[in-house]
Amino acid sequence: MVWTNSKNTELLERARKVIPNGMYGHEAAHFITPEHPQFFERAKGARVWDADGNEYVDYMCAFGPNLFGYGHDEIDAGAIDQLQRGDTMTGPGPVMVDLAEKFVGMIDHADWALFCKNGTDATTMAMTIARAHTGKRKILLASGVYHGAAPWCVPFKRGVLPEQRAHQIYYTYNDADSLRDAVKEAGDDLAGIFATPFFHEAFTDQHLINPEYAKACREICDEQDALLIVDEVRTGFRLSRDCAWTEVGVKPDLSSWGKAIANGHCLSALLGADKARQAAGEIFVTGSFWFSAAPMAASLKTLDCVARTDYLERTIAAGTRLRAGIDEQAARHGVEIRQTGPVQMPQILFADDPDFRVGSGWTMAALRKGAYLHPWHNMFISAAHHESDVDATLDATEAAFVELKRDWKSLTPTTALMELLETTSS
Ligand code: PMP
Repeated sequence: MVWTNSKNTELLERARKVIPNGMYGHEAAHFITPEHPQFFERAKGARVWDADGNEYVDYMCAFGPNLFGYGHDEIDAGAIDQLQRGDTMTGPGPVMVDLAEKFVGMIDHADWALFCKNGTDATTMAMTIARAHTGKRKILLASGVYHGAAPWCVPFKRGVLPEQRAHQIYYTYNDADSLRDAVKEAGDDLAGIFATPFFHEAFTDQHLINPEYAKACREICDEQDALLIVDEVRTGFRLSRDCAWTEVGVKPDLSSWGKAIANGHCLSALLGADKARQAAGEIFVTGSFWFSAAPMAASLKTLDCVARTDYLERTIAAGTRLRAGIDEQAARHGVEIRQTGPVQMPQILFADDPDFRVGSGWTMAALRKGAYLHPWHNMFISAAHHESDVDATLDATEAAFVELKRDWKSLTPTTALMELLETTSS
């Protein structure tokens, strides 16, 4: 089938009339090359089909929620069964208690759970609980690290008042000295420290965790009676079957979860230790859809799959195969790339590509050959990415390297992206 994006273009044109900019947030059309397909008709396993009917091996996994494969029969059957009995009702279903018990049983640091809808709900709630628990104001955040799209954390500051970010102090991720400087600045007013399990930010290389930094976060919080918050929204169950920092011997007081916890059904969660239970019970948090039962039923099934299957090992095997294959191709074509982060959450960036024109050109060429990759955001591998999917991807990336070398001089940057990047800061 010949690749075309005419329906996608038509949809974007219609969207521009009724949706500001035609698209928003990380999906905004000006973030990527204009030909990039943005509307999808359907998805199954590791594959998505765009509005024009093109089929792709998908490495975005809905930007994280797809962990076991799109349309996973067992997980979806759990959700559908609950949906038919009742979803958004006057109160939650019994499944809410089952799910909270399941999380508490699986995540070592957790003694309680609160459920919500988006990652931002969970991170915002964590911040409020840290302040309620300590009676203090200062929150330490690693600069440039994404925790959501509320005024306190959104990376673009248009419409945000400095007052909405008052009492936030920034430090450098993985750098215990910089963390200690920030702690000094907080004085006797430190409420909490936020950290992600590893450094996984857009437009830049990813960095694995330095255990000394993770331990310093814990020690400082203990000394100051502040709360340590690990933001697992993007990483949850992709690095570990527990909270990822448990693997380096550090238990947080709170952890925020979202994306993959219900394999694409709409649910997020904040998990906490006993220490923070009272404060969590004293703040007022809620939402019209936070108690919906069907996503919780999906999550219960997802957690079963996490505990019962070798999904994690399979995502690592597929990621290792992809990384080795792309490294081999790049070396053979004499193109310098950097593949960073855990293999199951790959980031692929090109050397000497400050405006991402090379990465965008390569990604677009692979896309036309059936692999949906991203030029500057970390990607995700699901348990439905089989060897054959990876091999089909490598055929696409091989063709993309050939095209890249042919078209190198005529590549152009996405100017709107560069303008937006200039306005970004923590
Ligand atoms: N924290 C992290 C680490 C994230 O990656 C994200 C989403 N990309 C969020 C919080 C916010 O989650 P949501 O978009 O569901 O609000």
